[in-house]
Amino acid sequence: MKQAIFSPSKYIQGRGEIGNLGDYFAVLGSRGAYLIVDPFILSVYEKEISSGFRERSISFTLQKFNGECSKNEVDRIVQAMKEKSADVVIGIGGGKTLDTAKAVGFFAELPVVIVPTIASTDAPCSALSVLYTDEGQFDRYLMLKSNPNIVVVDIDVVAKAPERLLVAGMGDALSTYYEARACHRSGALSMAGGTSTIAALTIARACRDVLFADGLKAKLALENKASSKAVENIVEANTYLSGIGFESGGLAAAHAIHNGLTVLEETHHLYHGEKVAFGTLAQLALENAELAEIQETIDFCKSIGLPTTLKQLGVDRTDHDKIRKVAEASCADGETIHNMPFQVTPEDVFSAILVADRLGE
Ligand SMILES: [Zn+2]
Repeated sequence: MKQAIFSPSKYIQGRGEIGNLGDYFAVLGSRGAYLIVDPFILSVYEKEISSGFRERSISFTLQKFNGECSKNEVDRIVQAMKEKSADVVIGIGGGKTLDTAKAVGFFAELPVVIVPTIASTDAPCSALSVLYTDEGQFDRYLMLKSNPNIVVVDIDVVAKAPERLLVAGMGDALSTYYEARACHRSGALSMAGGTSTIAALTIARACRDVLFADGLKAKLALENKASSKAVENIVEANTYLSGIGFESGGLAAAHAIHNGLTVLEETHHLYHGEKVAFGTLAQLALENAELAEIQETIDFCKSIGLPTTLKQLGVDRTDHDKIRKVAEASCADGETIHNMPFQVTPEDVFSAILVADRLGE
């Protein structure tokens, strides 16, 4: 059986890195940089971003991101880019800005630098973009030829984002080890196209260990708009460890149950990682994990404010019809729940959700 691991070629995080993008451009290109930037980030950091290129006399274009990662927006940028002398695409912002930059790089066949300004998901490092319609509905997954060439995280920028985003990122990162472990046990293929490697599983385990050790300390630092070693560790866990862990370790029940939860309107106010955290608890119940392991995971979620009950997700626990709908959607054909090391039915998931909810209380 083939084993495989994917990762960006370089991952860099540090303070003030948003002013150093000219250096990273120079590793990959010579003609010019084409920057696709989240409008809010552009309004706050335009000076820092621009001066990093001006000081090095590098030609650059700032393109404001229009708000939707759709094929039309991607095509519009690819066309606009042709009028500029650019040979590197740089995306600066949150998930949709970064997915747009990755897709632009893919269609224009240019190297990509990804600069996440929040640490709310593990998407920045992956070789995947999620495309939406112009109206914001899910369109399709775009599998890219390669991971970003360089991922650069400026800790100072991430530390200024609302702490709920970092906490949501910890929810997304929390699932990584348990899903990678399930895939390792079942021999399921990951997005890297092979079974898990020692490296991916070890990275996934380190991701969980860092969350438990530093999650609460990082959250408390951010509440005071301060950075710290714990914040740096959590940014690395949410972005890099979880990124490699999910892409090359594999996804299983936690993300499938997250997808199931999205069929309920009442969960739409929650971030991806907040729903994934509850999906993780439900996966642990589903696989009949040791009670101590479930308890330690619940304690962690509670300590940083991730939801552990259906009520916190806005779902009525007595509405069994709705919970059955979630369970059925979690078990749809092609869902990653079928990567679990045993057969899973909607009835099993229904029961696991209710048990997780009671334990989480
Ligand atoms: Zn996720």
